[in-house]
Amino acid sequence: MRDKPFEIILFGPPASGKGTQAKLLADTFKIPHISTGDLLRAIKSDKSNPLSQELSDLMDNGKLVSDELISKMVAERIKADDCRFGFILDGYPRTEEQVKDLEKISNIDYVFLIDVNDKAVIERISGRRSCKNGHVWHTKYSPTKEDGVCDTCGEELYIRDDDNEDKITKRLEIYHGNTDPILNFYKKQNKLIRIDGDQHIEIVFRSMIKDLVEDLRAQLGTK
Ligand SMILES: [Zn+2]
Repeated sequence: MRDKPFEIILFGPPASGKGTQAKLLADTFKIPHISTGDLLRAIKSDKSNPLSQELSDLMDNGKLVSDELISKMVAERIKADDCRFGFILDGYPRTEEQVKDLEKISNIDYVFLIDVNDKAVIERISGRRSCKNGHVWHTKYSPTKEDGVCDTCGEELYIRDDDNEDKITKRLEIYHGNTDPILNFYKKQNKLIRIDGDQHIEIVFRSMIKDLVEDLRAQLGTK
């Protein structure tokens, strides 16, 4: 057996529940969930980190963090001791350049795609209703007792700007443009496992575990 059996990447469109699944996997296998968004924020706010200033300059001015810099931070992160039994990447790699960087520093075992079709993503997001206190409801999946009024605090509900259909459609275009070539790359390597994300959270998670266990059994010759 390799000493790093679980180097995993999770992909999924917005509102696919990817973050939730990453946390469940991390808890189950006792390996860290590395979300690039969280990692960037953590390094930015850690003034003792030599990259903190550079990140602040970029992020506070709304500038993009380069592939090179992101890859450098991920490379540092996965060298940490808590990654010795593996890790789960969420939000990385996002470009083909980042895939090349990751190939140099890792040995990815599994790439999961939590697959939710565009129509369902649009329905999941455009049905969201929020109040000014941050309570979020959904017209279909968690409706309030009274239309347009928050059950928790009684405030008026509205559609967040990011949740309108045009914005979601744009985000999906960007997602597919970036992600589809990356998924193809891992598909060719036989590492891509597609999970139907249009199921209950628990079922999605069980499907991932089932595929992992079957593959491990096959590797160990116990199947
Ligand atoms: Zn509320």
